[in-house]
Amino acid sequence: MRLRIILLLLLAAAALFSTPRWIGSTTPTEALALKAAAHNSTAYTLPPAKLKQAQGLFRTRTTLYFAGSAWSILQLLLLLALGIPARLRDIAVNATRNRLAQCFLFTLFLFGIIALLDAPLAIYGHHLGLSYGLSIQGWPSWLWDQTKSFLLAWIVGAMLILLLFWAIRKSPTRWWLWFWVPAMAAVLFGVFLSPILVDPLFNKFEPLQQSNPALVQQLEKVVARSGVSLPPSRMFSMRASSKVTGLNAYVTGVGSSKRLVLWDTTIAHATPDEISSVFGHELGHYVLHHIGLGLAFTALLLLVAFFLGQKLTQWMLGRFGPRWHIRSQNDWACLAVLLLVLNILSFVAAPIENAFSRSIEHAADVYGQEAIHGIVADPQIVTQQAFQQLGEASLSDPTPHPFVEFWTYSHPSIESRAAFAAAYNPWAEGQHPKYFLK
Ligand SMILES: [Zn+2]
Repeated sequence: MRLRIILLLLLAAAALFSTPRWIGSTTPTEALALKAAAHNSTAYTLPPAKLKQAQGLFRTRTTLYFAGSAWSILQLLLLLALGIPARLRDIAVNATRNRLAQCFLFTLFLFGIIALLDAPLAIYGHHLGLSYGLSIQGWPSWLWDQTKSFLLAWIVGAMLILLLFWAIRKSPTRWWLWFWVPAMAAVLFGVFLSPILVDPLFNKFEPLQQSNPALVQQLEKVVARSGVSLPPSRMFSMRASSKVTGLNAYVTGVGSSKRLVLWDTTIAHATPDEISSVFGHELGHYVLHHIGLGLAFTALLLLVAFFLGQKLTQWMLGRFGPRWHIRSQNDWACLAVLLLVLNILSFVAAPIENAFSRSIEHAADVYGQEAIHGIVADPQIVTQQAFQQLGEASLSDPTPHPFVEFWTYSHPSIESRAAFAAAYNPWAEGQHPKYFLK
């Protein structure tokens, strides 16, 4: 019972923490721009041929998203109904008495089957990128990336699952709380280590200073205005052009692993001013503590998901366990039930996660536009143009369906961001910047 109280307190603390003023409040200047933006439908436009492509792509992607989510739930139900997880468990348990080996063997089988069942949609997704000219990555290279992702997910996943089953054995009713600790540790390690260990497995990075010293000089000015510590030695250019045609720039990692990554496609297609605008947005995420906020939000979501996951899994085992040949939670085959439950929960949680993400992204937009004031000639025009470039390169639909935006968009739609940028001028007479004094 005491645990219920702790959980409630945690929930209340997290609820307070997840609505701090920098997300919740809107300055009068910002509200004015948001209002003007709502009536502006020409801030981001596409020529007719591209518009048709963008609308087609939006429809196909939306279908793919919802079909993919449904399939990930259905396939696990099918596997369970056919008793396949139980059979895989028997093979793993008969092969060795060592639990570590059993875990790696069982997860290899289960993840392997899931990957095969997901393959048609993944292949179609890559085909779509190729046919719209968004990707130029050849099939062998794509397949190799998929293989690396699978191996990484298997190795990291198996280690976590070993801990999960250890927690289940120690405490069948409270494992959701105990397992939450290593799960969060893994998330933290991921944020810190993935720029150093994982990203280089998939792409090549070069110091930006070598290829674009002039650009580095301009970006240093934005860094100086933001007050973030990011020396030129931590600015990298990523060779994205061998795989994709879209534009991107991001800041990743924390502490000593923090770095700016600029896709070479961006350097080739966007002006230094436009790049500064995107960069300003990225720095905003750091200055406004979005990394810590995102981690707190993830921590809360995981805690709730594990808590509900435990209850739902117990319920399913009570009802269908005998039919699925799964004896208890402490049965490797129960992993399939857990995955099923977590897939359902993560689908339902998508709009919550995305709403949180969109509010953070809007705050970073405001910050970015203010950060380049005095560095580029006209922050409004430059930022709007940067969105035009980004949207055109990724064939973003200028008028996505509001429901799809609500459910699946992690960022506000490009046209609303471009319209806001065009309308936002905190340096006009009587207006005030939100994050800077001037
Ligand atoms: Zn962002």
